[in-house]
Amino acid sequence: SSSSPRVEEVHLSNDEVPVRGLSETVVGVLGGGQLGRMLCQAASQMAIKVMVLDPQENCPASSLSYHHMVGSFDDSATVEEFAKRCGVLTVEIEHVDVATLEKLEKQGVDCQPKASTIRIIQDKFLQKVHFDKHGIPLPEFMQIDNLGGAKKAGELFGYPLMVKSRRLAYDGRGNAVAKSEEELPSAVNALGGFDRGLYVEKWAPFVKELAVVVVRGRDNSISCYPVVETIHRDNICHIVKAPADVKWKIREHATEVASNAVKSLEGAGVFAVELFLTRDGQILLNEVAPRPHNSGHHTIESCYTSQYENHLRAVVGLPLGDPSMKTPAAVMYNILGEEEGELGFQLAHHLMKRALTIPGATVHWYDKPEMRKQRKMGHITIVGPSLGNIERNLAIIAEEKKLEDK
Ligand code: ATP
Ligand code: MG
Ligand code: MG
Repeated sequence: SSSSPRVEEVHLSNDEVPVRGLSETVVGVLGGGQLGRMLCQAASQMAIKVMVLDPQENCPASSLSYHHMVGSFDDSATVEEFAKRCGVLTVEIEHVDVATLEKLEKQGVDCQPKASTIRIIQDKFLQKVHFDKHGIPLPEFMQIDNLGGAKKAGELFGYPLMVKSRRLAYDGRGNAVAKSEEELPSAVNALGGFDRGLYVEKWAPFVKELAVVVVRGRDNSISCYPVVETIHRDNICHIVKAPADVKWKIREHATEVASNAVKSLEGAGVFAVELFLTRDGQILLNEVAPRPHNSGHHTIESCYTSQYENHLRAVVGLPLGDPSMKTPAAVMYNILGEEEGELGFQLAHHLMKRALTIPGATVHWYDKPEMRKQRKMGHITIVGPSLGNIERNLAIIAEEKKLEDK
């Protein structure tokens, strides 16, 4: 009939179970931090079921997930048990038990992105070797096993020299800078010594740090979010500006490097590519995250489809959404713990209340049970007609805070 013309177009084959809603695939996420929480938020409006695996009873994603399995994403038996209950397995942190993921993949478990990708990325040195092999521009790097090796690297690359831990790095916690050869031993010690697995990178004399979130579907289609500028304070992401205020040519080049980097990795989902822009206009890759990323938080409010929704669409095999911005500009401001405990909570509370008075500002609070200095506790995204306009609004939040401090 003319009132329901499409009904007759639906033909189910014998073995096809009718889908009620968008997808019946249960998405299993290793890790239940803020990224897992925002994945759950995106999933809820599409009624996609997200299960999280995280050792912390009251982790940020716990209360919003379809189910929270309490356990370690770095424990083989636990990951196997978790995988049995999911239709597709994905991650919100790369420091997971990858050997188990590889084993599960051989048994037919669907991991997106692929375990091979997690293996490359979770070891920063292997990551550099991989991207170097694929012709992606990087700061020069070298493995170091002892002080002699570190000194040799210092002679080759000069100082300051960036010493990095190969594994388990986040928020700059695996980085130490040696300003001279004399500082090498203390930099190495700060990272736990050579036994922890270290390597060095030549200092990247960047004028800006940029990032590109790239999404790849199960059909290998790729699309890129606009290039953003990330501003770090003490090695921790502090502010993200979207779009990055750089020449069009630079944006194009950054996007090309980012999509080439992702094309060299396997599997569906969102990937974030961190880049350095040097004085002479070079783009160098810093690192890639095989998951949604801090540099893409702003996409929730500023893009047609957020990185979280696109990650879900990608891993369950739905059409990808438009990554372009629907607002002229956006700024994301991380709420980092300023003080331990109660005082820290109070400062964050006042900061967020000020943000609520700002037009175009949205407050995200991750509900972490404990406040620690420099810990990512929440973030504020401000959208507006221009970066200048937004920065004036952000200054109101930040400067009022400074006055209160006095
Ligand atoms: P994340 O939280 O992004 O995972 P991380 O702990 O993995 O951080 P990196 O991304 O390696 O650490 O480095 C953190 C920051 O340190 C960079 O964003 C950049 O500001 C600085 N940095 C890293 N490598 C270099 C380098 N080779 N030269 C100069 N600065 C660097
Ligand atoms: Mg990292
Ligand atoms: Mg980084």
